[in-house]
Amino acid sequence: MNFFEHKEEYELLRKTIREFAEREIRPIVPKMESENYFPYEIIKKLANLGMLGGYANSIDTTSSSIIIEEISRVSPAIGVIVSVHNTLVCNGIYEFGTEEQKRKYLPELISGESIGAYALTESHAGSNPLEMKTYYKKQGNKYIINGRKIWITNGPQARYILLYAIGDTENPKNSMNCFIIDTKREGFSIGIIHNKLGLKGAHSCEIILDNYIASEDEILGKEKEGYKIAMKLLTAGRIGIASQSLGLSIGAYELALNYAKQREQFGKKISEFQMIQYYLSEMITKITASKLLTYYASYLKDNNRNARLEASMAKLYASETANYVVDRALQIFGSLGYAMDFDIQRYFRDARVLTIYEGTSEIQRVIIAREILR
Ligand SMILES: Cc1cc2nc3c(=O)[nH]c(=O)nc-3n(C[C@H](O)[C@H](O)[C@H](O)COP(=O)(O)OP(=O)(O)OC[C@H]3O[C@@H](n4cnc5c(N)ncnc54)[C@H](O)[C@@H]3O)c2cc1C
Repeated sequence: MNFFEHKEEYELLRKTIREFAEREIRPIVPKMESENYFPYEIIKKLANLGMLGGYANSIDTTSSSIIIEEISRVSPAIGVIVSVHNTLVCNGIYEFGTEEQKRKYLPELISGESIGAYALTESHAGSNPLEMKTYYKKQGNKYIINGRKIWITNGPQARYILLYAIGDTENPKNSMNCFIIDTKREGFSIGIIHNKLGLKGAHSCEIILDNYIASEDEILGKEKEGYKIAMKLLTAGRIGIASQSLGLSIGAYELALNYAKQREQFGKKISEFQMIQYYLSEMITKITASKLLTYYASYLKDNNRNARLEASMAKLYASETANYVVDRALQIFGSLGYAMDFDIQRYFRDARVLTIYEGTSEIQRVIIAREILR
């Protein structure tokens, strides 16, 4: 289906998720902010609404983008929890899993009984995952895994983690496996939970594998094709983060627009000043461009076309736009923008990571250049 034809189904989905976000998510945001509270009940309710599970639950990429955008308009933190769960984990198992793996893991992930995480990053391996040190040793049909990952979103809550490890330090690319890790098994533990600037309520942590034993049927996809899987899933993940960025931008823009129409100075609404109008018009133009790029990348993915270039362009542009929008929005609020009692500072803090995770802006530019110069 094509989003640009504005099919009724997509608009109905948007309406459903927007109403849900206003009714159920908005009231829980203060608790997430003040207590760094992970919103289990929202995840369960989203599952009941049929919003979890990705392709396995008939959520195509366009629908997934609508879901993440609308959630992030209210809570970018819940947006990233869902983005990782749906676009990286559920779609990963659906696309690369065996029938047995799909039967085993997907029902729990669709029902929200289990949460998923994706573990690539290590302290020495951020932008370049090939520098990873997490290592597996094959013994018969078992794999013994040792190593540490950092910054793993949903790590503290996840039951299953798609975790990447190498078998040969001399040849990381062609020896990498993607394992489906069961966090209840011996050998798995959580290290520090990172104290973040924003996205309160969405937790990222260190995870530790200490002689964790995985079996052959816990490898996702073909053996030694982990690197290809990691990169392929990141294309889908980047469309998710572009959608999160888009939703966040819209949330911040709406706050600024409403405030500009109410606040008076010099005997006028500040929205009557040309400079404020300039900010608002720049914001909405960039937001609309982000939307077009994001839904174009989703459309390509849904039509089985290569979306690597477009996913990177959408992620780059939408995440940088989000940072522009929150900065201008905060400016429109004046000193109230700087006050912790107003919501705009939350969007400001939440936006900062968007140009960093799932590939920094610099890495998106590297990918874009590689694709166009190919
Ligand atoms: C809140 C949060 C959640 C996250 N969630 C996850 C998760 O769920 N799973 C996961 O695996 N990881 C996750 N990450 C990790 C994230 O994806 C990495 O932090 C990111 O890829 C960047 O790696 P790095 O921090 O090591 O930066 P580095 O790679 O050290 O980069 C430092 C700087 O150098 C620049 N740089 C690096 N290489 C180049 C180059 N070739 N050309 C130009 N500039 C370059 C970067 O763009 C950056 O500006 C998360 C991070 C955060 C902050």
